[in-house]
Amino acid sequence: MSLYPHARLLVSAAAASQFPADEGAEVAMAGRSNAGKSSAINALTGRRGLARTSKQPGRTRLLNFFELAPRARLVDLPGYGFAAGAREERDLWSELMDVLRRRHSLRAVLLVVDARRGLLPADEQLLDWATAGERALHVLLSKADQLSGSAARDCLRQTQQRLGETASAQLFSAHAGTGVEEARARLQHWLKEKPR
Ligand code: GDP
Repeated sequence: MSLYPHARLLVSAAAASQFPADEGAEVAMAGRSNAGKSSAINALTGRRGLARTSKQPGRTRLLNFFELAPRARLVDLPGYGFAAGAREERDLWSELMDVLRRRHSLRAVLLVVDARRGLLPADEQLLDWATAGERALHVLLSKADQLSGSAARDCLRQTQQRLGETASAQLFSAHAGTGVEEARARLQHWLKEKPR
């Protein structure tokens, strides 16, 4: 079932000036390349193919703003794991992330982490970015269908220990549907929340 039947790509922003007006509510989605972020977006919105349409060839780092409903957006951050870009590219990237974090509409960050790998150093940077901005932070341990029940529970426990008070975490599988309802409930809650 489509939770957001009218979801659409608003803009693929390469510069902060292209960001949509800072009003309403938005939730950012982040994760390493191949962590399963696009699949998670499609599962959460119930719109198969929504995130795929935004995949850009090459290394250009675009922030894709999806309008899920009026005044409710999802911001798809580029998959990281290719951080060793040219100097100017990294400077532009940190500027874009700074501007994003200052937006009043940014309510929360959903971080997608492959459950088979757990939190990796590149994820820590994103965690620091989100917690420094005092945003709600929730980790989706993706591809949980690839782990046995006990391995998945171990992964969840270890991740929760590592995160402590800074963030919450859950098991998730776009393919098997695990945890989709729980994650959707959070997304809906954040997108309805009153301005900070
Ligand atoms: P992105 O690069 O983070 O956007 O990742 P994608 O959503 O494109 O997924 C990367 C790969 O992981 C693809 O081959 C997907 O089919 C696979 N994948 C994504 N979600 C799941 C899942 O829940 N279970 C399994 N087994 N594979 C998944």
